[in-house]
Amino acid sequence: MAEKAFKYVIIGGGVAAGYAAREFANQGVNPGELAIISKEAVAPYERPALSKAYLFPEGTARLPGFHVCVGSGGERLLPEWYAEKGISLILNTEVVKVDLASKTLISAAGETFKYQILIIATGSTVVRLSDFGVQGADAKNIFYLREIDDADKLVEVIKAKKNGKALVVGGGYIGLELSAALKINSIDVSMVYPEPWCMPRLFTSELAGFYEGYYANKGIKIIKGTVATGFGTNENGEVTDVKLKDGRVMEADIVVVGVGGRPVTKLFKGQVEEEKGGIKTDGFFKTSVPDVYAVGDVATFPMKLYNEMRRVEHVDHARKSAEQAVKAIFSSEQGNSIDEYDYLPYFYSRAFDLSWQFYGDNVGETVFFGDGSPTSPTHKFGSYWIKDGKVVGAFLEGGTPEENKAIAKVARVQPPAHSLDQLATEGLTFACKI
Ligand code: FAD
Repeated sequence: MAEKAFKYVIIGGGVAAGYAAREFANQGVNPGELAIISKEAVAPYERPALSKAYLFPEGTARLPGFHVCVGSGGERLLPEWYAEKGISLILNTEVVKVDLASKTLISAAGETFKYQILIIATGSTVVRLSDFGVQGADAKNIFYLREIDDADKLVEVIKAKKNGKALVVGGGYIGLELSAALKINSIDVSMVYPEPWCMPRLFTSELAGFYEGYYANKGIKIIKGTVATGFGTNENGEVTDVKLKDGRVMEADIVVVGVGGRPVTKLFKGQVEEEKGGIKTDGFFKTSVPDVYAVGDVATFPMKLYNEMRRVEHVDHARKSAEQAVKAIFSSEQGNSIDEYDYLPYFYSRAFDLSWQFYGDNVGETVFFGDGSPTSPTHKFGSYWIKDGKVVGAFLEGGTPEENKAIAKVARVQPPAHSLDQLATEGLTFACKI
């Protein structure tokens, strides 16, 4: 089969690939030099939309509406944009073999691609219940959500099972966003998760208390402290019920699982240094192999602010790491240098009429502020995280753009916290003064 050669190749056609493409164009990439190879059938899009407006019955998001870079207020890169720039968008193409030593990639269809510089942007894949050997986990109507094809299957079943019952497995942001989306579609929703409260990796018990109360008021049943251990099916192989470890059996026409992700690094195993489950990079997203970069969910990079190697599975970092890598590639070609990546962690979620943002690090003591009552009309509250006498992280529900900017500044500046009581009393005013 014919061999294709490009100066630059990006493996993966997700968020990082799209933002990298825009930066390549900004840097003046020549037509024919860049290829994006993606196993998805569509040009890069803003993945977070899949668990939000993509599933809404009204105001539904559909492509081409949410191609990158609209999520950060930028120009929408339609397939035509790539063609105009001479960027090859090689879709429906899974890379199945990589040889970094000979700079060769092989696709599932047997095509060979050569590159001079490679950017790995393969993102994450979902953790499946079958990975834990859960009985019956391959039944029909058990869904996961990572790519647009998965979202399309969900849209279909939501229509097919109108007024049906759904069980959402997992209490992370995917579980919370999907539960809200299903409920808005008039599905009867229950959630199950083993932890004492939802989003335990970020939420304090006070923060979670609000969201759990709010969801309960919307009619969503929350079952905590147990896990799904098996699924019952009908004669068509469709799921009918879910067995929980605590002995309960829940009826369900739809099961949606959001129990975490894992970076897609298998293709590169043994060829590149790894750390903390990801591909190790420097502050320019260069890996241990010359001319190979890794960005987005797969990269474990130096988080300068905390002097620690970290991996981040959030969209803001996918965008920014991609831009940083491309800037680094062009500056080194021109014999220049750029500043090291200096990332402030930022994460957000939206469900129902709620919207929160978090900046910084969620370590140390916590202080809750504002009105956290699930029935409050304002929904404005938050939390600070305090370590070594400094405020290092801030969370805010219902913030205005200015207020969100203020909490971001707090997390970046890390002002001293003289008294936790005072911080609780001052609440958002503290952030707005910084
Ligand atoms: P991805 O966007 O996942 O792209 C990876 C691409 O690589 C995909 O196109 C994939 O098909 C392709 N690929 C993988 N292997 C191969 C191969 N071998 N050959 C060819 N192509 C390959 N983050 C937030 O901060 N806020 C949110 O609200 C939020 N919501 C989310 C909702 C959902 C449903 C999901 C799934 C994620 C959400 N995220 C959110 C996380 C965010 O979307 C990711 O962190 C981000 O997409 C990572 O970008 P990436 O380019 O590294 O990977």
